[in-house]
Amino acid sequence: MPMTRIVLATRNAGKITELRAILAEAGLAHGLVGAEEFPEVPDVKETGVTFAENALLKAHALARATGLPAVADDSGLCVDVLNGAPGIFSARWAGRHGDDRANLDLLLAQLSDIAEEHRGAHFACAAALALPDGTERVVEGRLEGTLRVAPAGSGGFGYDPILQPLGETRTCAELTADEKNAISHRGKAFRALAPVVRDLLG
Ligand code: IMP
Repeated sequence: MPMTRIVLATRNAGKITELRAILAEAGLAHGLVGAEEFPEVPDVKETGVTFAENALLKAHALARATGLPAVADDSGLCVDVLNGAPGIFSARWAGRHGDDRANLDLLLAQLSDIAEEHRGAHFACAAALALPDGTERVVEGRLEGTLRVAPAGSGGFGYDPILQPLGETRTCAELTADEKNAISHRGKAFRALAPVVRDLLG
């Protein structure tokens, strides 16, 4: 159990619940607080060009502002035939930040002529820890799969209805939350970060 509180760089209640569940499995549930407990801390601009850079930017900004160890993540969908795009632009691929349906529809239209064997893609997540003294660690996780030609399922968010994990017959949006956490990029990244947090914070 960490000696001190750790602040999570997200104001999204759903994400906090998900990360709490993942970190609890690793024995790190105690003392986690969301960034919403520090309303005076401004959102940081994601000026990095990789998931790791953006996760570290968010973690450092929050650690500096709160004086607490901070954990942040950055994630997205990387499509093989698009050389890794949308990548860091996943949340605003269709132009407007967070319009999940428009992002997914644009991507499907762009890939409409691409055959099944060339529809490989993965979700990627970088999870970063920053301490107020500037110490930093970052780890990554991936969920490999293929892209469907039409969305299926109503769970999850973002590109979940079109990513079918390798070895699965269902899309991510047809998995339960527990099933997705067990294999997801975010689950893998945070499970890899948990021992790092324990080593640094005791
Ligand atoms: P962020 O890490 O919250 O900035 O997420 C960036 C974007 O990547 C989201 O808006 C989604 O479009 C996409 N994304 C990240 N993780 C997932 C996931 O688990 N499922 C579906 N889409 C995701």
